[in-house]
Amino acid sequence: MTGHDHDVPYVEHEVGTVAGDGFARRSTDEGVRVEGHCPRCQGPYVSAYRRGYVVVGSKGLFSRERAEESDPVTGAVHICECGHPHPGQPDALPFVGCGAQWRIESGTEET
Ligand SMILES: [Zn+2]
Ligand SMILES: [Zn+2]
Repeated sequence: MTGHDHDVPYVEHEVGTVAGDGFARRSTDEGVRVEGHCPRCQGPYVSAYRRGYVVVGSKGLFSRERAEESDPVTGAVHICECGHPHPGQPDALPFVGCGAQWRIESGTEET
């Protein structure tokens, strides 16, 4: 188990695509829930996605776009919401985290 690095400064940073193995995927009534850790600060990451939607993140702005039949996990840009206000985080963000953004490779879905 790796520790959450609270001293990582807030930077909007695209980590790239990380292996799906590190993220647990669980089916829910509405879609899928992803659990893992931020690849940058190692903080806890949990996010729920509804099937048929992808979340598109761009420079801190969010929009939900309809995307029929797309995988909500591999199709999304995941954004750190570890809950720790990292040093230098701007005010009034819709989430609290280190600013990391990443994509997840397709992995095994646990049902
Ligand atoms: Zn983070
Ligand atoms: Zn963090």
